[in-house]
Parts: sequence; C-alpha cells; structure tokens
Amino acid sequence: MGEFDLIARYFTRPVRHAVLGVGDDCALLAPRTGMQLAISSDMLVEGRHFFADVDPEALGHKALAVNLSDLAACGAKPLAFTLALSLPRVDEAWLAGFSRGLLALADAHGCELVGGDTTQGPLNICITVFGEVPTGQALLRSRAQPGDDIYVSGTLGDARLALEALLGHIALPAEALARARQRLERPTPRVALGLALRGVATSAMDVSDGLLGDLSHILQASGAGACIDTSKTIHLIAAKTYSTSATSPLPPELVHQCTLAGGDDYELAFTAPRARRDAVAASAQASGTPVTRIGTVLAEPGLRLVDAQGQAVENRYASFDHFR
Ligand code: ADP
Ligand code: MG
Repeated sequence: MGEFDLIARYFTRPVRHAVLGVGDDCALLAPRTGMQLAISSDMLVEGRHFFADVDPEALGHKALAVNLSDLAACGAKPLAFTLALSLPRVDEAWLAGFSRGLLALADAHGCELVGGDTTQGPLNICITVFGEVPTGQALLRSRAQPGDDIYVSGTLGDARLALEALLGHIALPAEALARARQRLERPTPRVALGLALRGVATSAMDVSDGLLGDLSHILQASGAGACIDTSKTIHLIAAKTYSTSATSPLPPELVHQCTLAGGDDYELAFTAPRARRDAVAASAQASGTPVTRIGTVLAEPGLRLVDAQGQAVENRYASFDHFR
C-alpha cells in the first residue's frame, strides 16, 4: 500500500463544514463573522509520550484529545484538524485501530480531519486543531485577579499513578491499574466545560504537565500568586474510590505527588471571581463536569501550599519538563 492509498483509506472522509478537506494543496475553512480562530498543535513521540506497544485505538484517541484539551482551555469550539504522521512502516492493523480511535473522538466533537502529511520515519504524531471563539471571549492565562477562586475539573493524578505502575516503580492491583490506565491512555478533553466557562472564568489552562507547574503559568501570566489547599487536592485522585478492601491505601506522599505534579491529566484549571461561584456551579452542571475549588489567587507572587488547618506545606512537587 502506497502513501496515497493509505491516506485515502484511513484518513479521507467527506467534509461537512469545511469548504475543502483532504486532497488539494490546502484545506479551506470559512471562519464565521464575529469569530476568531483558535489554533493549537501538540505532538506525540514514541518513547517520550507513549509506549511502543500502546493500543493504537487509544493512541488515536489521545493524539486528538490532548489537542482538543487546548481548545477547551481557551473556551473554543472545535472545528477541524490536520494530522502529520510519521510511520516506520505500513501496518494496516495499526492504521485501522489508530484511525478508528482518532475519528471516533473527532466525530464526538464535530471536529473534521481536513488535511495533513504522511511520511516514513520513527512513529511521531502531530495534530493541529482549529477552533472558533467569539471575538474577545477566549479564556486566557493572563487575567486571573487577586481574590479569585481557583478550581480544577474532574480528577487528578491517576494518569501519573498508572505511569508509575507501568514503569514498575509502584505496584497496583490489576483492577486499579486498568482503571488508572484509562485516564493515562484515554483522557477526556473538557470541551463542554471550556465553552460553559466563557464569560465566567477569568483565566484557564489545561493541566498537561502537572497542576502546580501549569498553575504557575497562569500566575506568571497574570502577575499574581496563589494559595492551594492540599487537603482538597489529595481527594482528587480517582484511585482512592476504586481501591478495594484487599488493597492497602495509597501512601499520601505518592498521592500528593500524583495530584499536584502528575501530568497527563487534561483537566481544566481555572480562576473565577468569588462573586461568580453560582455561575461556576451552573457551568459545571450545564457541561456535566465536576469542578472542585482548591485555592485562592493572591496579589503577592509565589505558590503557597497549605493543609486543612491552613498550615504551610513545603512545596517539593516538581512538574514535568521535557528538558530538565
Ligand atoms: P503535499 O504534496 O501538498 O505535501 P501530500 O501529497 O502530502 O500533499 O498530501 C495529499 C493530500 O492528503 C493533502 O490534501 C494532504 O492534506 C492530505 N494528507 C496527507 N497526509 C494526511 C493525513 N495523515 N491525514 C489527513 N490528510 C492527509
Ligand atoms: Mg505532504
């Protein structure tokens, strides 16, 4: 099977909203009046972001999910994406699984595959997503205000827990590993929540490298600091709800590490004024996404951690950095 048969079989589908999709030199999108295009790229590299033997269907899902997560963080509605793929060889079973996972998530979000590039080389997947947001309404990192509440959606830390188990650093019962692994391999982009938070959140970003590290990007961009209540974040790990009586409880230090600095969560961290607590609750409800209030934005720079009694906790939780 050649390059063009491969593209035709696995990555070409009739376009619905785009003006022009796969098959020409460029795809064409027609942004609607009053809308801005939100654009983001994320690359997944074998050995760096996923194991060589990962289920191709899950990989297809994740490759698009991490990109949709960036649109969610901006409050943008997904429109279309391109796929640049480097493959060591043509493996039809792999391609069928990968495209199935990819296109199922694309369909679920009405996000069309409109083009890309296909070459031979080490397995590498780069997706660029295009979304739309009403002019001036994108959620940015730079608008958090002192006094704002800090929230995070969903659960945190399970992806990292699974990774630690897969790397053999910790032992998890098979059932617990299977569930944590779902969070690592099939993250849920919080697109509906991002849309519902337009006009409510003052700032937002998605948690991909670990909560504290990602939050510090918001704080830096906003010229602010924050206080985070670790007695709230420790409960955000889903694994605690599925450990059986046969399982020993997870060590608290491991849970702090996973929830505060785990990475690969693809939840939204955002800020909103105290006076908008009802509006945040309504956004969470409308989007069917749980959110938890975990702290407060402060005028003084720096990220402080406290326990349930408000006592300072040492911040020794480093987030993921590809070059550190
Ligand atoms: P070009 O010569 O402009 O690089 P290609 O020959 O690489 O174009 O690709 C032919 C068509 O197939 C283009 O429309 C391109 O966008 C599309 N395409 C290539 N690879 C992919 C892919 N992996 N997924 C979707 N579309 C693709
Ligand atoms: Mg090309």
